[in-house]
Amino acid sequence: MSEREPASVSEARRARGSDSDATARAVVVIGAGGLGCPALWELARVGRADVRLVIVDDDVVDLSNLQRQILHREADVGRPKVESARDALARRFPKVQVSVRRERAGAANVRAIVSGAAVVLDGTDSFGAKFLINDACVAEGVPLVHGAVVGWGGQLMSVTGGSACFRCLFEAPPPEGSVASCEQAGIIGAVAGVIGARMAEEALAILDGTPRLAGALDVWDARSLERRTVRIKPRAGCEAHMREVA
Ligand SMILES: [Zn+2]
Repeated sequence: MSEREPASVSEARRARGSDSDATARAVVVIGAGGLGCPALWELARVGRADVRLVIVDDDVVDLSNLQRQILHREADVGRPKVESARDALARRFPKVQVSVRRERAGAANVRAIVSGAAVVLDGTDSFGAKFLINDACVAEGVPLVHGAVVGWGGQLMSVTGGSACFRCLFEAPPPEGSVASCEQAGIIGAVAGVIGARMAEEALAILDGTPRLAGALDVWDARSLERRTVRIKPRAGCEAHMREVA
């Protein structure tokens, strides 16, 4: 260390070198499956010392999804996904700070999960969870990166202060059975990989104050190779935003 280095700089360096940096900003990844795994890998690979990763999932590793859930191995089948994912990141990126919450994001706990986060990545696969997470992030003023994949199609969008949110776009979950689920339509693993990695990129851009998809839905079809970005206007009467005001 140079004699002339200001104390604040050396303190910041010490903080960056610490494994338990309390000042690191929390990046919360909900869902450690097909989207969460590539997103976590990408976030850890970038290796930012000012970031700590929080993985939220209540599920266990299942053999049928391993091809796209790249952090889990056959030997992990039956283990909690959060533990398997944390261990995979620790093996490859030992300096990355990771903590886990083995719980499913639901009405009772979702505000607590997102509260205080610098950014949340939604890698869940149900509409119900996506609306809950969106509403909680809007209410808590926490930026959100939404991602989804079905079949050959993928989409992502981020929600930041003042932008349109997921509920501005879709209003409410579709009636049960009206939209093909991931299980019915299947998921192409490579599409999940691309969307998950791009969710991580967008989250890092949000941390740097330069989101590219705030209130913009980016839709990609890996079969036709069509890609479009639709700018969404905040919707008057959006319940998420009304709750924010209330
Ligand atoms: Zn809204």
